[in-house]
Amino acid sequence: MQQADDAQFHLDTLAVHAGVSPDPTTGAVMTPIYQTSTYAQTGINEHQGYDYARSDNPTRSALQAALAALEGGRYGLAFSSGMAAIDTLARLVAPGERIICGNDLYGGTFRLFDKVLAPTGVRFTFVDTADPAAVAAELAREPARLVWLESPTNPTLRLADIAAISAAAHAAGAQVAVDNTFASPALQRPLALGADFAVHSTTKYIGGHSDVVGGAIVTSDAAAYERLKFLQNAVGAVPGPMDCFLTLRGIKTLALRLRAHCANATAVAQFLEDHPAVASVIYPGLESHPQYELARRQMAGPGGMVSFTLRGGEAAARAVATHTRLFTLAESLGGVESLIELPAAMTHASVGGAEALAAGFAVPAGLVRLSVGIEHVDDLIADLGQALRFAA
Ligand code: PLP
Repeated sequence: MQQADDAQFHLDTLAVHAGVSPDPTTGAVMTPIYQTSTYAQTGINEHQGYDYARSDNPTRSALQAALAALEGGRYGLAFSSGMAAIDTLARLVAPGERIICGNDLYGGTFRLFDKVLAPTGVRFTFVDTADPAAVAAELAREPARLVWLESPTNPTLRLADIAAISAAAHAAGAQVAVDNTFASPALQRPLALGADFAVHSTTKYIGGHSDVVGGAIVTSDAAAYERLKFLQNAVGAVPGPMDCFLTLRGIKTLALRLRAHCANATAVAQFLEDHPAVASVIYPGLESHPQYELARRQMAGPGGMVSFTLRGGEAAARAVATHTRLFTLAESLGGVESLIELPAAMTHASVGGAEALAAGFAVPAGLVRLSVGIEHVDDLIADLGQALRFAA
């Protein structure tokens, strides 16, 4: 499928076709796994567009074209992990320049910013990105190179108004990156809302089967793309061809899967909200979510992630998380199978200490996070129901 055609197709169609065309040598309908590190040259520097597999690989090229099409951008870049994608994008910011970012980021992103990049001289200011006025005030106070958003955030599912913040950032001369991992392009397209970069842990919904780790950046900014492409090769955090193949294979069902995730998560969130052992439920599809209206405006569905707290506090949370049968106690999210975890002790354990708390990072110890899968919803609700008996 030609990139120029992409805009006319629905996401369901793009997910199946984008980036993929029959293999020129064999006619194979599915993109082959080009398991090679190098390519024969017919003369010195004469080749068919591929010279070394860190620089480019046909399986990766297909994935990158698919990612760009899904996000409605001109350029896609694939990485060996979500963190590699985030690190590469943050390298657009020079020491001394500033990134304004949410005070509610994925723990690994906070760790990269705080422990790896801040010591190199890149400056970070953490603000409440659920409040566009707070971001605008920070932009007015001092120039920034980049505004870094996560929406919905992991694990407290707060949203950033991407259109409003992008307009304010551009007026102040800053670019905007959105970690779109939780929504996936099936539910939210940051570039169409005005952002400059969409970033992903493709490990999650894009891959969709918990069998591959990967990351992505999509942009329509030609100059930024050239620099990022250079960094992708120069730094070298690239995915292997098998990983690209698995991610491409996962993408084909992205739209279908996200419809099932949203329907199941909505039913699970409603069940939890009505349960006497549950103190609070955070889900952008519930009217009780403080940004319910923004979710409806900005997203095509509320997603598959649900967080909740229990009346019995942390002890009850630990009891529930260790007594589910279908929900596996595990880190990660976005696969077809349901997962349960305690972020404060697991995925967000790297977010701790006085500095993190001062910056506003605090995941409540008793918060339970669900990645609601695509199993039959009655079975999922029955499983949570039996586990909640241990919360008493
Ligand atoms: N961004 C978000 C929102 C995440 O949840 C994660 C991982 O959980 C990452 C980035 C990092 O991705 P990866 O684990 O693929 O490096």
